[in-house]
Amino acid sequence: MKKFIIYLFHVLVVFIMMSFANAAEINPELSAKLVEFETASKCSFTKTSGVRTVEHNKKVGGASKSYHLTGDAYDLVPKCDTSLKKLGKIAAKIFNGVIVYKKHIHVDVRVEVFHKGF
Ligand SMILES: [Zn+2]
Repeated sequence: MKKFIIYLFHVLVVFIMMSFANAAEINPELSAKLVEFETASKCSFTKTSGVRTVEHNKKVGGASKSYHLTGDAYDLVPKCDTSLKKLGKIAAKIFNGVIVYKKHIHVDVRVEVFHKGF
């Protein structure tokens, strides 16, 4: 029993350390652009996906070279009533990577321009 509790404690510590490591990996340029996007769109967003581990990315069916793996992408669900397509157009002025899905907008800071779905 004691061993099991120690084991659980280790799992918890590793989990917490991984959470912090992931949080630190978000590209500061991405965070800055999100603030810019929120100001320009007069909308705030819920981040449904930030940095993913390789395992998590596979589970959610992410692209194998997903920008989520490197902390260069966010998936955003708006808290305002503005349509996703309209928000996509505003996002396109700020982010090189913008993909509008049915219920969220994916934005990333890739080098080449890639805009889709709006
Ligand atoms: Zn995404």
